[in-house]
Order: sequence, then structure tokens, then C-alpha cells
Amino acid sequence: MREFRYESYSRRFDRPLRTARGEWAVREGYLLRIREGDRVGYGEVAPLPEFGTETLAEAEAYLAALPAGGEWELPEHLRCCAFGMSAALAGLKGAMALPDRNFEVAGLLPAGEGAESVLEEKRSGGYDVFKWKVGVEAAAREMAVFERLTDRLPKGGRLRLDANGAWSLELLGEWLEFLKGRVDVVEFVEQPLAPGLEAEMMAARAESGIEIALDESLNGAGAARWLGEWPGVLVVKAPLMGDMARLQAQLEPVAERVVLSSVFETGIGFLNTLVLAGALPKLNFALGFDTLQFSDALGGRKEGAVIAASDLVALNPEEIWNANRHLS
Ligand SMILES: [Mg+2]
Repeated sequence: MREFRYESYSRRFDRPLRTARGEWAVREGYLLRIREGDRVGYGEVAPLPEFGTETLAEAEAYLAALPAGGEWELPEHLRCCAFGMSAALAGLKGAMALPDRNFEVAGLLPAGEGAESVLEEKRSGGYDVFKWKVGVEAAAREMAVFERLTDRLPKGGRLRLDANGAWSLELLGEWLEFLKGRVDVVEFVEQPLAPGLEAEMMAARAESGIEIALDESLNGAGAARWLGEWPGVLVVKAPLMGDMARLQAQLEPVAERVVLSSVFETGIGFLNTLVLAGALPKLNFALGFDTLQFSDALGGRKEGAVIAASDLVALNPEEIWNANRHLS
């Protein structure tokens, strides 16, 4: 008989995260645990409705109504629940092999001028790829900060600029013009325009020669289409994208252009995403997992420029499950 349990979690960011969408202060979601005999599988449901996923309330309604002991079908329309359940069920079957290699991590810089000192700190911690949120302050101001950031980059270092879909077509044009002479320090510009404007982004990418990555566009109505048709970089937030096994099959042919990226999940969602990373040997972009912005024990790992295979072995989902129960 299978025993299914879930627990909500609520985590306050040490400092609210500023993006083009505003400030984010508390991350909420659910941890899942399925047990059968002495085997246990863990999953996480971490919705981001602004990325087109189910809401917390919709996720909770699904989890609360799961019949005891059953053979559960993955809910197609609740992508975060489908990811969490698929991971927990695969874990129960012992089908969640940890990667046997290390992964580079991109350092996350705060929006605005605060990015400069954080870049220096992270540079000394060994990071050489950095992700910076743009579209938060006036463009002229951000361009000035960009110049100062590039002066502080380590040799060979590069920046990812993430606009979270906030730029206008005109602003994208201005930025690409500005970046033209600086292509060697730009890894890519991430989701400059809102979902639905993929044709415009594709044209801008081709014309400027500057790499443009899709993120939010991969979670909207056209998601599956753009995984197949976008010629550039794909930022994949696995916990928002449904059944893990299906996602793995979709990513295999494009893995060289995939950047696996965090949704500020706990160590359980992190571990499950890293299992996916291990199943995609062609992945080569630094992972977007510099996201330990909480003082609780639910991250289950230490910040660092490299995620080592040995760190993953040491990460114990049962400890995270218990730590959360003690918090609530
Ligand atoms: Mg993004």
C-alpha cells in the first residue's frame, strides 16, 4: 500500500528578489513524499502562476484530493504537480540516478547597482558566468552599470541579461545596438520581450548576432512548440514543465542549447532537477542555481560556483522533509 503525504512550505527571501515584475518576498510550495514498504520517493510542487502554471490553491486542491494508495495519473493541466508527482514516483521505483559529473553554476546578481559588489564577491568565489536582472531600472542607468560590471568580469567571464519579458521592441533594439561591440562578454539576453513576441525576438537574434534565450515563452501556451522551433538558447525551469520523463525526451535533441534554471525550489526540487541534468550528457551551459537566498535549512546545500556530484550524494531529501515539518 502506497502512502502519500504532502506538506506546504513557506520561505522568506533574505532580501526580496527584485525583477522586472516587482518584488518577490515569500516562496511557497509543497513537498511530496510517497512511501511503499521501505522505499520512498520525494517530489516538490513549486508553482509560478506568472509563468502560466497552476496557482498554489489549484495545486493544493489536486494534492488534497489524491486518493489514498492508488495508481495516480499525472495531471496534464497542472504542470508543477505533474513534475512533483512524476519525480516522487520515479524515486519510489529507484529510477532517480544522480549525475556522476560536476556542473558549473552562473552567479546571480541583484538588479541595479548592487550587482557590482556582488559580482566582485562571487568572482572571488570562482564564478565566471553571471546572471543579471535588467528591465528593473531606467535603461540608461542599467547600461552604465553594465559597463562597470564588464570591467569587473574575470578573464573570459560573461553576463546573462534577464529582462523577464519587460522590454519593448524599441528598447530591445537600443540594447542590442549597445551590446553590439560587447558581444564577447554577453552570453545571452534572456526573454527580452513578452511571450507571444517570439517572431520579433527571432528576427532580432538573427539580425544582431547576439544570442537571445527564451524563458517565459517556454511555459506559455506555445511552450512545446518553442522547445522544438527556437533556434537559440532555451532556459528550462523543469519544475514548471510537467512529467519529468516526457520533459527529458523533449530536451534530449536540444540539450546543447538548454540552460537548466531554478525556480527558488527547496533541495528536493533541486535534486530532482539535477537528476534530469545528469540524464542529459550534452548540457553545457552553467546552471542557473545560485538561488540559495533563504536562511532556512530547506536548501540542503551550500552556495558555490560548482555543484559537485559528491554534494548531490550528500543532499538528503528526508532531512529537508523533516526540516520543513519542524518549521511549520
Ligand atoms: Mg528568466
